[in-house]
Amino acid sequence: MSKSLQAIRGMNDILPEQTPLWRYFEGTVARLLDNYGYKQIRMPIVEFTELFKRSIGEVTDIVEKEMYTFEDRNGDSLTLRPEGTAACVRAVLEHGITGGGQVQKLWYIGPMFRHERPQKGRYRQFHQIGLEVFNLDGPDIDAELIIMTWRLWGELGIRDAVKLELNSLGTSESRGRYREALVEYLSARHDKLDEDSQRRLKTNPLRVLDTKNADTQAVLVDAPKMADYLDDESRAHFEGLKARLDAVGIPYVFNPKLVRGLDYYSKTVFEWVTDKLGAQGTVCAGGRYDGLVEQMGGKPTPGVGFAMGIERLVLMLETLEQIPQEISRQVDVYLCAFGEEAELAGLALAERVRDELPNLRLQVNAGAGSFKSQFKKADKSGALYALILGDDEMAQQVVGFKPLRGQGEQQSIAWDALAAHLATCVVQG
Ligand code: ATP
Ligand code: MG
Repeated sequence: MSKSLQAIRGMNDILPEQTPLWRYFEGTVARLLDNYGYKQIRMPIVEFTELFKRSIGEVTDIVEKEMYTFEDRNGDSLTLRPEGTAACVRAVLEHGITGGGQVQKLWYIGPMFRHERPQKGRYRQFHQIGLEVFNLDGPDIDAELIIMTWRLWGELGIRDAVKLELNSLGTSESRGRYREALVEYLSARHDKLDEDSQRRLKTNPLRVLDTKNADTQAVLVDAPKMADYLDDESRAHFEGLKARLDAVGIPYVFNPKLVRGLDYYSKTVFEWVTDKLGAQGTVCAGGRYDGLVEQMGGKPTPGVGFAMGIERLVLMLETLEQIPQEISRQVDVYLCAFGEEAELAGLALAERVRDELPNLRLQVNAGAGSFKSQFKKADKSGALYALILGDDEMAQQVVGFKPLRGQGEQQSIAWDALAAHLATCVVQG
């Protein structure tokens, strides 16, 4: 195929054999969030570039080097969203739905775009399910977010493979004091830092903390600790969160170096990490951002949220072989009809059955074909039963009911009794 007809590097098709697992995952999350009282919001995929610069921060990896930014025909600078929080905050402000302290518990799902180096678990178009809560400032809601994800890992069968890391970044004031102390300490050891950290020291010093460079890590061992600079309120908030996680029995690890890539966090930050995916080990990450709404032109509005990477979680389900068997079968019953008259009768019969059993996954053979070829297709479809309409069945107004997976002999069922019969053997419950 010529180059121009290939997908863009790092942007993947999700093929029909993969979509059942995606839909199972997405459906499980959606049901869980519904049950906890969260409501879905849908934002555009493209926003003004300025939105991301203002919210995520000019000197973050995302804004500095990962955004897909372009000029549209009006000369406006637009960007494919790299994450969901900024657009969600814009939307709630634009529609006034967080005004007067109204609580909003929102979630969204969809593609995000970052120009990163594609590798396993890291793509240029990837998908997130994210969630944001506005106007609740206590640790109880931070705990709820973590509790929900904990339940999700349980439902998905991957709880033993993930670990919760927690930190508190304090308020912007306490973080400012800590930043000063850190800059003073690191500046005195400037020559021992790697190049990237030297740059970050100027632009975004807290990010030096999550360096992967061993020499810089050695320098950091004796650096001032964020925990020592926490203000009383942030400390109490953090203790409140931990007490709730203890009460529910959710294990966590305190990670003082967890700072997150985005500028807007305060107090709680957390990540769910796994060692099952190689280097791309963070499957869900989030935190509190009490200053963000104000920074974006709204009234002071506390917020907290997280986002999980769907590709990484789907990969985990595959790696850990936590794929429920029932999702791979997409057809319950396959109807074969032989001859024109039988085909017409079959169509009408199928619709009558669907009227009565709307959840039945009934596939009608298309493209005619011999007895042998239709049976082959019936078998390949994964159906549990084939329905057969040939000359004999037409004459008697019955349909042949043939188990395809070795559950007994073929029988004849009267057309009028077909739906009731299928209800007993396929769509129980
Ligand atoms: P990382 O440290 O892996 O780059 P991040 O801190 O940039 O992650 P967030 O912005 O917090 O990630 O996004 C939340 C989640 O979205 C991540 O934990 C991850 O599961 C997923 N994610 C982020 N970037 C990508 C990507 N390029 N490809 C696939 N999934 C991603
Ligand atoms: Mg990143």
